[in-house]
Amino acid sequence: MDAIDILRKLKNKGVRFTPQRQAILEFLLSTKSHPTAEEIYQHVRAKFPGVSLGTIYNTLNMLKEHGHILELSYGDMSSRFDGNPDNHYHLVCSKCGKVVDFHRPLLDVNHEAEEMSGFRVLGHRMEFYGVCPECRKDEMN
Ligand code: ZN
Ligand code: MN
Repeated sequence: MDAIDILRKLKNKGVRFTPQRQAILEFLLSTKSHPTAEEIYQHVRAKFPGVSLGTIYNTLNMLKEHGHILELSYGDMSSRFDGNPDNHYHLVCSKCGKVVDFHRPLLDVNHEAEEMSGFRVLGHRMEFYGVCPECRKDEMN
C-alpha cells in the first residue's frame, strides 16, 4: 500500500492527518533502514522544524495500531520502525545495530507452538544476529 491508500483508509476511519504525520508515514514507506523514533524525528524536523517528538510517537503508535507499520522492539534499546507491516524476518548487526530484511517464506511453526504451549498463537518473530558485511570489512583491517 502506498501513502495515498493508507491516508484514504485512515481518513475513512476518522483519523486526522497533518502534513507532519504524512511526512512520517512517507519517510517510513520510502526507507529500508528500520529507523528509530529519534531518527524519524531528525528526518521530519528537517522539513517541519516545529514537529515534536510527541507527534512522532503518537503517529507511530496510531499507524501501528491500524496495522500499517511494524515496531521491532529490542529490550531497553530504542525500537525500530518498519513501513512493511507484513511479517518478515530480519538480520541485526551486533556491531553497528543495522537491521536488514531477510525475505523468505514464513516458517510454518505457529500450530506447533500452539500444540506445545496451549497458547493461542497470533504470530512469531525471527531475527538473526551477526556482523554485517560493512563491519566484517572493518574487522579485517
Ligand atoms: Zn554492522
Ligand atoms: Mn523489515
